[in-house]
Amino acid sequence: MSFYVTTPIYYVNGEPHLGHAYSTMAADILARHQRRMGEDVFFLTGTDEHGEPVSQAAERQGMTPQQLVDRNAPRFRDMVARVDATNDFFIRTTDRGHIERVQEVITRIRENGYVYEGTYEGWYCPRCADFKFENELGPGNTCPVHEIELVREKEENWFFQLSAFQERLEELYERRPGFVKPDFRRNEALAFIRQGLRDVSLSRPKLEWGVPLPWAPDQVMYVWFDALLNYYTALGYAREGEDLTARYWPATWHIIAKDILKFHTVYWPAFLMAADLEPPQSVYVHGYLLMGEKKMSKSLGNVLDPFEVIDRFGADALRFYCFREVRFGQDGSISTPGFEARYESELANDFGNLASRTLAMVDRYRNAVVPDPPGGDAAPAAGDAALSAGTVAPAAGRGDPALADDPALAGLPARVCALLDEAELTEALDEIWTAVRRLNRYVEETRPWELAKSEEAADAERLDSALYSLTEGLRVVTLLLVPYLPQSTERLLGALAEPSRAPADFGSRGGGQRIERLPPLFPKIEAATPAD
Ligand SMILES: [Zn+2]
Repeated sequence: MSFYVTTPIYYVNGEPHLGHAYSTMAADILARHQRRMGEDVFFLTGTDEHGEPVSQAAERQGMTPQQLVDRNAPRFRDMVARVDATNDFFIRTTDRGHIERVQEVITRIRENGYVYEGTYEGWYCPRCADFKFENELGPGNTCPVHEIELVREKEENWFFQLSAFQERLEELYERRPGFVKPDFRRNEALAFIRQGLRDVSLSRPKLEWGVPLPWAPDQVMYVWFDALLNYYTALGYAREGEDLTARYWPATWHIIAKDILKFHTVYWPAFLMAADLEPPQSVYVHGYLLMGEKKMSKSLGNVLDPFEVIDRFGADALRFYCFREVRFGQDGSISTPGFEARYESELANDFGNLASRTLAMVDRYRNAVVPDPPGGDAAPAAGDAALSAGTVAPAAGRGDPALADDPALAGLPARVCALLDEAELTEALDEIWTAVRRLNRYVEETRPWELAKSEEAADAERLDSALYSLTEGLRVVTLLLVPYLPQSTERLLGALAEPSRAPADFGSRGGGQRIERLPPLFPKIEAATPAD
């Protein structure tokens, strides 16, 4: 099975910020999850480089649009690398391969009869690069987003017959209830479709910075259509000499932010249908991370700057916080003190401590060798069946049933993987965290340090059982955290002598492996010095 996930392509006319990082990290978590399940994954991100705002900004700065996009695109490429994203390709809509394929698709749509010439008149916002409907206008005919006064524009251009797809779109939504997620976003998209679709203009005259229409090169394609097509065009040229379209199309997930819902859930599937192409399988619409009350934390300023967080705490901490603090799909507040609280109580204390004390106890009480579970034979359990069987720790009759049968742990990998398959990034993390906390309570319940002092054979057996069960539980939660915390889990899996491979083995291992102790995975926060 192949799995294809995309981020929105980022408008190159600006600086990368937390919103871009958020979409990128979400798509990366899904890509890493599918890869470790053994799927054939393609992960795409990139930059949207055409349109009037780019040519205007270039003019203001005394450069050509090409010079401007060549200067800005690397900033986004750098952002993608810094959040540790494992994209397979970075598309730029000024790529020759993209432009050629956009022209092929639009030609096919015209040949299919969905393109016609007409006059468009309306209120135009140059900064949105979009005409506004009357009911969208702010007071005094202003753009509701940019709050600037709009001018009435009239132009001859080419239209896409969106109205012809009303029924087929309704059918698509009917047939595939999971086409748009979460559900409230699906309802929003469907309501937009049901209120009646009007044809949309496809091209703009008088502009030069865009993809020319092949049959009317005095017009360039409306930037949104050119941009949307990136998800399809990239597969044609991402790998030299190889066309990946048949292998990966249709996309499994488009991850987008809520402000571009209409384009991705209405225009885009219609556009694909018009070109005889399959619509994507699903679109996940995420919300916004909002800076609530601006309070100063001890190590960061009052605004959560993703790059500052990465410099001080690493990309893992940012990836964890964004999906732990705000339910993926919803809007929610973030803050620098909120970040520190989660970092300290959850990453450093819950998970970091679980890891260090488990490794330390195996080291101290069993000479760094994970004991075999008492009563079992030393042969490894049948790990291959374990994901479907879904036991976290000890398979039946092995390890401590107090842990293996606990609802927080029993069936955990199967539950987490099912949630990640549905892009429920926060719920999956919630499940993992419940298990992390259960494992910490288990340490308090079994008190291995007391068992270690005892001379009785039964206590030695209990200690073996506790250390085996804990190490096994730690191994499984660590494997499950790989997509969220790629750097720290890699170190920890190394210390646990867990081979890295796909598909990951969630089934129980026997004992016998030699572990290593680690310095803290998430060191304590030190207050920023005044010089910072
Ligand atoms: Zn605007």
